[in-house]
Amino acid sequence: MRDVATLLEALPYIREFHGKTVVIKYGGAAMSDPRLKEDFARDVVLLKYVGMNPVIVHGGGPEITHYMERLDLPVEFVDGLRVSDEATVEVAKMVLVGKVNKDIVLLINRHGQPAVGLSGDDGLLFRASRQPAPSGQDIGYVGRIDRVDVDVLNHIAEDYIPVVASVGADREGHSYNINADEAAGAIARTLSAYKLVFLTDVAGWLRDPSDPGSVISEATADEVEAAVRSGEGVSAPVSGGMRPKLQACIDAIHGGVSFAHIVDGRAPHSLLLELFTDAGQGTKIGPARSDTK
Ligand code: ADP
Ligand code: MG
Repeated sequence: MRDVATLLEALPYIREFHGKTVVIKYGGAAMSDPRLKEDFARDVVLLKYVGMNPVIVHGGGPEITHYMERLDLPVEFVDGLRVSDEATVEVAKMVLVGKVNKDIVLLINRHGQPAVGLSGDDGLLFRASRQPAPSGQDIGYVGRIDRVDVDVLNHIAEDYIPVVASVGADREGHSYNINADEAAGAIARTLSAYKLVFLTDVAGWLRDPSDPGSVISEATADEVEAAVRSGEGVSAPVSGGMRPKLQACIDAIHGGVSFAHIVDGRAPHSLLLELFTDAGQGTKIGPARSDTK
């Protein structure tokens, strides 16, 4: 009976989401654990089957580090950003576009819906420029996104599931390593997506980062902004990899995305649970408090 109840609970959400775009930032355990990878692919394919338009954006930090080490190249981070000289960005591009991206495409293909992989260069999806570390230090070819042109995504999404690797080039043709959270946010905004979902390795946005039970299940973009700016309000100061995620959520909501979600990718099917059940699973961020998910 529980199965029937779950299906019935999902129905109004399926109706609400039909024809709408959801941008999913894919990362962490959901991208490395074999079982979770299969679950993720099934979830994404199911979203497409029920008439949603899923767009996947991924990074691949651990894989880049792995290949850097195999090539005996130094690995260095400043303010959580990878110091990227010419050799580093070359490896990052090869690994993200040639390996990680194609592995995800294959995974989704195998589960019954054809996917197409692309990077920021394809169809001029995004143009980047050099971004210094927050401390001002030059960290090389680490880019921010200046312009997004989603025309290519709209074409591909008519028949395929787009899978985007977060690298892109500037006007002169130099390639940059781009934070995948920022890329996902910029794409969601430009597509006027209904939802932006981050799959990550924490239970959600935590009131106290050392307490996994302290998930903030719902917040407004203004509350998130106050916390990111000064650590005021609902959360302890936001640090590390949660900062670009929350910033992307704020920018997305201000840019017209209806909801942003931060979801525990370590839990099987967390994507479906967050989207299609009343209780949800992680943190839901919207323009204002609401009763609907
Ligand atoms: P991803 O690979 O999904 O981008 P990151 O490691 O970059 O994940 O970002 C998530 C990390 O952010 C968490 O593991 C945690 O260490 C850190 N963090 C800092 N502040 C918070 C917070 N308030 N709530 C949750 N995580 C936080
Ligand atoms: Mg991160």
